[in-house]
Amino acid sequence: MPFLIRLLIGFIFAILIALVAWRAGSLSVSGAWAAGLTGGLIFGLGGIPWAILLLAFFISSSALSRAFAKRKSSLADKFSKGSQRDWGQVLANGGLGALLAVGYIFSSHPEGVWLAFAGAMAAVNADTWSTELGVLSQIPPRLITNGRKVERGTSGGITLLGVFAAIAGAALIGIAAVLFYPSQHWLSFLLIIILGGLLGSLFDSVLGATVQAIYWCPTCNKETERYPLHTCGTPTRQVRGLSWVNNDLVNFACSIMGAIVTVGLWLILV
Ligand SMILES: [Zn+2]
Repeated sequence: MPFLIRLLIGFIFAILIALVAWRAGSLSVSGAWAAGLTGGLIFGLGGIPWAILLLAFFISSSALSRAFAKRKSSLADKFSKGSQRDWGQVLANGGLGALLAVGYIFSSHPEGVWLAFAGAMAAVNADTWSTELGVLSQIPPRLITNGRKVERGTSGGITLLGVFAAIAGAALIGIAAVLFYPSQHWLSFLLIIILGGLLGSLFDSVLGATVQAIYWCPTCNKETERYPLHTCGTPTRQVRGLSWVNNDLVNFACSIMGAIVTVGLWLILV
């Protein structure tokens, strides 16, 4: 198929999906624009296998956010944004993928760029699954850096359930990747994508526990990612982390880590 036709079809598909997601309340208006752009590049330049991985991430994570929205309502204010994703969240999760799709068509090692994309998608999917499912754990989380018990929903806190959810989220991307991009090294590919996804999501937790900006609401006596106002309307003040390291930047770093680990293992093993 001619290049421009493929690109056009990719953008049409991405914009249609973004419209449906906006109507369903999964994306804000700015989020839908960002999804149309990143999705168009990934579909149009990468083709079917790339589209499958992006959709596996987008559909499974949107479904999880919705499925557990009610049960987690008491925790909702801990997270800086609701289940409706805006442009910052979309670029944090899919921005690296769009850049890799551009790199893919120019690269002399397309297989390596594909694995970087699969690793990045595995990491953001692992992170979303562990965030959505980990807070349902009956056992209180422990901070990834020092093992101290922390309140449920605290940035950087991990649970065994959350780690298993991360592995399952990464495995979904890994399985889709080896099914739709057949290779004689499929088993190695599957394992390094899962490992990249898991380490990317754990890196997200390390950043959450150390450099991510975390705020305090004096009215509710609670830690929150919300700034400048808490859900109750009270201005929040920063208690830890660096002011410029927000949740979107941490998620972007998570996707970079997933790509680096997967490609690094590929260079060592294959
Ligand atoms: Zn408050």
